[in-house]
Amino acid sequence: MIDCLFCKIIKKELKVNIHFENSDILAFDDINPQAPLHILVIPKIHLATLNDLKEKHSPLIGNLIFTASMLAKKFKVSNDGYRTVFNCNNFGGQTIYHIHLHLLANRQLSWPPG
Ligand code: 5GP
Ligand code: ZN
Repeated sequence: MIDCLFCKIIKKELKVNIHFENSDILAFDDINPQAPLHILVIPKIHLATLNDLKEKHSPLIGNLIFTASMLAKKFKVSNDGYRTVFNCNNFGGQTIYHIHLHLLANRQLSWPPG
């Protein structure tokens, strides 16, 4: 996807602070953190929104969630707690149209979200 910001990050055309990478997934710091720890976990294939998921993507999405839980342990926030969020489309607050899982931690997060 030529004009996708996150695809450019995956291709290393834009610099980010990477916390995890394998053949399928990249995890890096959010540029505008909403919590002291705010990491984005993204698939390396371009999927614009959760609406584009097919059943075949289930293992990939499971691996995104597993990666977030692994990073939560690595950053020692798993006991205090953390939040994982996929935003979808306008009402969900999605601004980058390449699926990403937010990992937010190290402050008390409110519920319900605004
Ligand atoms: P969304 O609102 O789509 O759920 O989340 C998009 C996230 O991407 C936002 O939290 C935003 O701060 C982050 N973001 C936008 N542009 C960049 C960028 O160039 N680099 C990084 N690291 N994060 C970005
Ligand atoms: Zn993309």
